[in-house]
Amino acid sequence: MTGEEDKDGARGDLWAHAIDRAGLGVWDADLATGGCYYSPSWSRMLGYEPGELPDDPDLWLTLLHPDDYDQAVASGDHHVAGLTERIDTEMRLRHKDGHWVWVLDRGGTVAWDASGKPRRVVGVQTDITRRKQAEDGLAQINARFRLALAASGTGIWHHDFETRTSFWDARTHGIFGLPAIDGEVSLDQWSSQLHPQDRKRAEREHMMPRETGETVQLRYRMIRADGEIRHLETLVCFVAEFGGAGQFVGTVRDVTEACLREEALARAARHDQLTGLLNRSAFDVKLARALESAAERHFAIHYLDLDYFKALNDFAGHAAGDRALQIIGGIIADALPDGAIAARLGGDEFAIICPVNSGEDPATLAREILDRIAGTSFGEDAGSPKLGASIGYALICDASISQADALARADDACYAAKASGRNRCVAFGEGAGASTSGLTAARILSETIDAMENSRLLLYGQQIHILGEPWSASHRCEVLARLQDRNGRLIPPAAFIPAAERFGMAARLDRWIVRTALERHGHAMRGPGQLVLGFNLSAQTLSDPGLWEFVDREVEAAQVSHSNLVFEITETAAVTNFQAAERFVHAARERHCRVSLDDFGSGLSSFDYLRRFPVDSIKINGDFVENLAGSAFDQAIVRAINDVAKAIGLTVVAEKIEDDETLALLCGLGIRYGQGFFLHRPEPLEGIVANLRHGRAAM
Ligand code: C2E
Ligand code: CA
Ligand code: CA
Repeated sequence: MTGEEDKDGARGDLWAHAIDRAGLGVWDADLATGGCYYSPSWSRMLGYEPGELPDDPDLWLTLLHPDDYDQAVASGDHHVAGLTERIDTEMRLRHKDGHWVWVLDRGGTVAWDASGKPRRVVGVQTDITRRKQAEDGLAQINARFRLALAASGTGIWHHDFETRTSFWDARTHGIFGLPAIDGEVSLDQWSSQLHPQDRKRAEREHMMPRETGETVQLRYRMIRADGEIRHLETLVCFVAEFGGAGQFVGTVRDVTEACLREEALARAARHDQLTGLLNRSAFDVKLARALESAAERHFAIHYLDLDYFKALNDFAGHAAGDRALQIIGGIIADALPDGAIAARLGGDEFAIICPVNSGEDPATLAREILDRIAGTSFGEDAGSPKLGASIGYALICDASISQADALARADDACYAAKASGRNRCVAFGEGAGASTSGLTAARILSETIDAMENSRLLLYGQQIHILGEPWSASHRCEVLARLQDRNGRLIPPAAFIPAAERFGMAARLDRWIVRTALERHGHAMRGPGQLVLGFNLSAQTLSDPGLWEFVDREVEAAQVSHSNLVFEITETAAVTNFQAAERFVHAARERHCRVSLDDFGSGLSSFDYLRRFPVDSIKINGDFVENLAGSAFDQAIVRAINDVAKAIGLTVVAEKIEDDETLALLCGLGIRYGQGFFLHRPEPLEGIVANLRHGRAAM
């Protein structure tokens, strides 16, 4: 062997070694003899030991995947036929274990015969299974990705900083209302379609990924090519490796429907469904904000509570109740000055927060709302119910007051408004009786309980006259409760009875008054011609299941006659619990207790009740009597009530007779009974009873 041959041999060994190490399989086919050599690394690639496989030129064909057969054979044939410069193909060969091994087969002719035909062809096969798997994985990811983009309607785009070109896919074009093609767009295409109000922010946010390296999500409005405004959501990231100077890669999605839905939901969460006003929680937020700056920006809280709403709801039905609430909501909303907000706090309670500039009086707004409500009809038919409201308001000028206290002030004032006769407005700190000192309902209540226990609850009475005759002709008297506070001041029932009702204490209070009156003055009411006492009962007492047992026991203990007791129930109380009222009236009649329908005419469809409640008398609401002389309307009402009452055999009592003119008018109208300051001012019951004895003695 020559030195050169030695060197070649050594180099051949080295290459064989390198090929073996690289895991490449070598084949060497001699086309003249038909023999083929497969290197040991080739065998190992397929899991065989060297020598385990025959050196058959067709060996590889027996291991070839049928799907790859045609292509692999063609690749060899084309090369041998001189059509291609080299063999270059991918195919699967079966491993000894049975699985398929992907190989890249590359080779070519290294020797030719005399006629120039290939004589020896050599090739190398590389195991590319891993690459093939990765490619498969990538293809799968790609397919899923495309599907996801299609399903979510997401468009993709990129912008190259080096070439300063932007590329939008077909979907992105479509979203912007442009013909749906994949392709380049002009640089300012995006900016030119941004909604002017969102442009600055969107452009700024869009650039952020380049500075922060983070993916940015942004929402903005865009004006589509057809002029429609749409909400879009874009994700942008900056990829420094793409292109020469990096690229923005982004997605874009039309989220208009979702945005509108979110807006609607957010709105619904803040608003009362029925009236469209703010709801309680939104009101709390507004109030908290208003309080923060109360020192600089004074404001008023108005608290509005409907009068007789419960009656309307129970009597006319929930649909009518809902309708009324909607109308009231509309009235309030229409009356709101700039910067004011209104909420429905629940049930029939509304509140307003209204800025108050110096010189302005919150009462103006309150009165305007009351007037509008008074002028509104709540039903189509002529006898449609009228609703009223009571409004209390509190002026808030400093931030030190708590939110709960601020609202409680307006609530207390509303309470006082209701107590002072409904359809009124009262400012916190003014108004009648207990609300003067700003007592809360709870404090009034504890006063009342304490007064009952310590005899500070007083029984007053007001005589009821047969009009034109001295009181001795009737001997009737209405019992009126008075609360004496710790300082000896008298508090009228309007200031504490609503509190008792509110906290469910009214029945206990009424019982206390009946028992105490009978215990103290029972002796004066033992038979015909004797004292007849009228008791006011609250709605809660009407549905007190133990009431009659209680009355019978007290009547018995005082040895008085049932017929010397009159129970006055208001129309509102009666409709509040219609069935309880009906049962009450029947139970009263069985015992010959008398029942009078109080404040008649103030409620809804009053005449209707007369058919349902077989009462003995009705007391015309004092509001119709007070100004009788000056009001032809009131006179007409009083006349109508009297006519109907007479026709069905009821006695009529007129309240609040304050002057002789009124008395004369009532007499002229044929009203039989009456009471009022002109005839008698309420005084302690003892005085009336003493007078009675005196009167009798004088007879
Ligand atoms: P009411 O049953 O309508 O009683 C008549 C009210 O009118 C009384 O007010 C009486 O003082 C007042 N009044 C009488 N004459 C005149 C007049 O000429 N002019 C004016 N402006 N007012 C007159 P008071 O005593 O403040 O009672 C108010 C309401 O409190 C009563 O209205 C009644 O509904 C309720 N009330 C009074 N005592 C009791 C009670 O013991 N239990 C219950 N549940 N309610 C009571
Ligand atoms: Ca009464
Ligand atoms: Ca009355």
